[in-house]
Order: sequence, then C-alpha cells, then structure tokens
Amino acid sequence: MSLGSLIASRRVILCVGCGGVGKTTTAAAIGLAAAARGRRTLCLTVDPARRLAESLGLSEMKHEAQKVDRARFAEVGLEVEGSLTVMMLDPKGTFDDLVSWGRQLEVLTPRAAKQMTAEAQRDPAGAATTLARARHLREALYHVFSAVAAGSHPPAPDLARLNEELKRALARQRLSLEGNKVSWTFESDPTDLDAVLWPVVRSAGELLTADEGIARLRECASETCGWLFVDTSKNRSRRWCDMADCGNRAKARRHYHRMQGPPKP
Ligand SMILES: [Zn+2]
Repeated sequence: MSLGSLIASRRVILCVGCGGVGKTTTAAAIGLAAAARGRRTLCLTVDPARRLAESLGLSEMKHEAQKVDRARFAEVGLEVEGSLTVMMLDPKGTFDDLVSWGRQLEVLTPRAAKQMTAEAQRDPAGAATTLARARHLREALYHVFSAVAAGSHPPAPDLARLNEELKRALARQRLSLEGNKVSWTFESDPTDLDAVLWPVVRSAGELLTADEGIARLRECASETCGWLFVDTSKNRSRRWCDMADCGNRAKARRHYHRMQGPPKP
C-alpha cells in the first residue's frame, strides 16, 4: 500500500517497534504528509526524548496539544492545506503529577510519596488504572459540588461514583494512637497506589455533610474559571475563587467598559 492510500483510507496510524528504528521520525513524516493532503492531523508520541520536536523544528514538546505553525512549512517550500498538531503523552509523568499533587496537599507523607513513585514504576498498568480513576473522580466531584453550589441535585452517576470511591476509602480507615491522641488514619500499604485518593474522597464526604458546608459552597463568578470554593467570608459575599486573580480581571473588565462610555445609538 502506498503512503498516499494509507493516509486516505485510515483515521489512526500507529508506528510501533523497538527503540531506535525511527518510529517518531516516521510518525512525523506521515503526519506531515497527511496535513499536506488536507487532513487535520494529530501526531502523538510517548517518547520522552525530543525526537518529534526535533524532527519538526519545534523548540519544545508539551503535554498539551501544540499546533505547528503553517509558516514553518512554507519556509521549506511545503504547502500544507490541512493542519498538524503535536502532543507528547507521558503516562508515568502524569502519575508522578498525581503524587506530587498529593504531596502539595499533604495527603501523602514524603515517605509514602517516594514509595508510591517506586511502586508506579514497578506496576505501570496499576498506575494507569489509578490515574484513570483519579480523573473520573475529579469529574464526579466537580459535577457533584458544582450542582450543590448552584442549589440543585447532583447527577446520580456522579454521586454513585463518589459513593463507590468512598466505600473503598472508608474500608481502609483505621483508628491510630499517637501519644495519647486517637485519630482517623488510613491503613498504610506502600503498594496501594489508590492511597492518594482516600483522603480526598473522605474530605469530600465530610464537606458535603458538614454544618453549613453546602451553604458556603460557591462556584467562581468568572465565566472562564469554574473553580469551586468554600466561602469563609463573614457576610458570605465572596464571588471569586481568588480576588487577586479572577476578581481583579473582572474589575479591570468593568473599568474598561466604563471607560468606553455608554453604548452609542
Ligand atoms: Zn476564578
């Protein structure tokens, strides 16, 4: 089959093989050929080396979609009717991101985070499963909290997902004694990659059932933000997730509109 008919007849083309055979460069060439034939093309790589970026003359490869500027092709005399977008997937890196997020929120101790990173390296499939569950949970939490903040009922599938995760998390809760203080902790098993999710779901449950928890829940007033926050202000009048960020942008916009004067007839 010629390259032209391959591109014309396929939606997804995978380049696989052992290291150093030229998968990435071939993928870049196929992507470019498809774009030149008018296709909207996405070139995905899991290669952490910079081969794809280098073969396309980009300064860096990002984890987000990055459209290659058409002018770049024109420079080398290539007319590209379609488009070429490139992106790097890094499955391990994204699990590491979840672990460092857990560190930032202090739901993981430095020791647990280290053990978890090592375990993810040993069991990449397990890490991918936990990561997928974390993403689903994030979606579910957003839908549940956003509905509650707006005073409406959370969607049933999202509540079901949260309950499913709660069931797992609460099953691992233990009472532990430190000095003469007894507190709720989680069973510590260094091979359990899910451990990063447990404190999050428990805390979500606590917030949803807390006195005034729901009444103080807000969604940022900025149209483009979508952050949820607990309004701890005295008169419960906070509108933005962060006054220094969304709040200031809204103020600047109002100021700009005032400066424009009343609409002309
Ligand atoms: Zn905001």
